[in-house]
Amino acid sequence: MVISGKELALSLKMKMAGEVATFPRWYGRVPHLVVILVGEDPGSISYVTGKAKASAEVGIRNTTIRRPESIGEAELLDMIARLNADNDVDGILVQLPLPKHIDEAKVIAAIRQEKDVDGFHPLNVAALWQKQPCTLPCTPKGIIKMLKSAGVTIEGRRAVVIGRSNIVGLPVAKLLLDENATVTVAHSRTKNLAEVTRQAEILVVAIGRPKFVTADMVGEGAVVIDVGVNRDPETGKLCGDVDFAAVEPKASVITKVPGGVGPMTICCLMENTIECFLRKMGSRGGNG
Ligand code: NAP
Repeated sequence: MVISGKELALSLKMKMAGEVATFPRWYGRVPHLVVILVGEDPGSISYVTGKAKASAEVGIRNTTIRRPESIGEAELLDMIARLNADNDVDGILVQLPLPKHIDEAKVIAAIRQEKDVDGFHPLNVAALWQKQPCTLPCTPKGIIKMLKSAGVTIEGRRAVVIGRSNIVGLPVAKLLLDENATVTVAHSRTKNLAEVTRQAEILVVAIGRPKFVTADMVGEGAVVIDVGVNRDPETGKLCGDVDFAAVEPKASVITKVPGGVGPMTICCLMENTIECFLRKMGSRGGNG
């Protein structure tokens, strides 16, 4: 079974659109997401465009602020301070990566926790690890939704996550743990990686290497979630971290790139924006 993140995201966005359409009546306006894009990186431009398109589909107001690569850190922090104070702004997202002369951690920490729709703020990260209400990071949240929508049992299963980044590997491992999986986190220093990954009943791959996971690394019947977004060096097309053609016959459930985790990430960003808005309006708790 191939889980289509694209289809699932579409149906969730339609549901959200129905909900958002009622907000002007109840709250006088719709949620407002501000996305800040620094520089001209084509990948970042395409992500920001995708976020604006999804906002339009859901009925969320989207403002994308573009600034040149040369923007100073102080100017960026100043902009965030103004958006933090603006009562008409519910979510602030700074598209990463930022140019080298800007301290990413400082910028993320400058966003008010209540407006941190990416779930990257240190207080949201701390809350996640302490099982407190928080805004969950979009990609890990989307992965759990995909697993559940496919009817995958997570509780009691052996899950292996390859990758330990702050934005994918670590938080998805924590969410799997919260769903009562037994979780192993593998990384570039893991010895005998294939031996570890073959044990996985649920394998989440987030490393950023085209078609790295081959059939011999996957156990028969495994559930395989491919987070990677890479260019295939042979074809130049988008591909994941998993060699889909080779692994699909062995997997019981698998995601594709493109059309898998990516659309769910954006869908969860929309959900997070709505949650931040509703929390501000005083009608809902966290951890949706
Ligand atoms: P990252 O910060 O570069 O982290 C990569 C992780 O992979 C690191 O923990 C690294 O280990 C591990 N790794 C690298 N090479 C490895 C190897 N040969 N064997 C085992 N582990 C290895 O990347 P990221 O931000 O997590 O992103 C990972 C991929 O997901 C990228 O392709 C990115 O574009 C994609 N992504 C997709 C979405 C989406 O919505 N679809 C969202 C975010 C990211 P060490 O820690 O030991 O260095």
